[in-house]
Amino acid sequence: MAIIRQVAELGHPVLRNQAVKVEEVNDPSIQSLIDDMLVTVSESNGAGIAAPQVYESVQIFIMASIPNPRYPNAPEMEPTAIINPEILWCSEERDKDWEGCLSVPCIRGLVSRHQEIRVRYTMKDGRQTEQTFNDFLARLFQHEYDHLKGISFLDRMDTTQEIITEKMFQKLVEQARQSEE
Ligand code: ZN
Repeated sequence: MAIIRQVAELGHPVLRNQAVKVEEVNDPSIQSLIDDMLVTVSESNGAGIAAPQVYESVQIFIMASIPNPRYPNAPEMEPTAIINPEILWCSEERDKDWEGCLSVPCIRGLVSRHQEIRVRYTMKDGRQTEQTFNDFLARLFQHEYDHLKGISFLDRMDTTQEIITEKMFQKLVEQARQSEE
């Protein structure tokens, strides 16, 4: 049975480690870690979660983009485990948008990311795949990938002036929604 894992918060050294490669994807401890991360991310209304965020310094993250109260504009995708990821190519074009993080509660920041990326990773069943992501999903991939390198989204910000609280972020979302109506 999958369990909800505790999420490490900014300041814990595990979030600053370089995560190690997964050697054996079929190892039961790796498979159950992935199952736990899938449950943990959906319970916390996250769009993604990386293994270091649940105190496991291995190269795995989950992309689980779905519209939820924390990310009302997220596109819907099947929750996907990304193992031993590599970024093969990234666009010169960059976008700036709001990010949050389960390990940095109550804070949002504007972060510049590559608009499109080409990636390779191993899937939960052990097969390798290549994929292209853009916009929100490219941003999500880059955010989670950074966690495997010990980097937080705050490290990627141009200025601390572009930090806002979760409460203010929700107000912005609500204003944007109303102006669309
Ligand atoms: Zn994060």
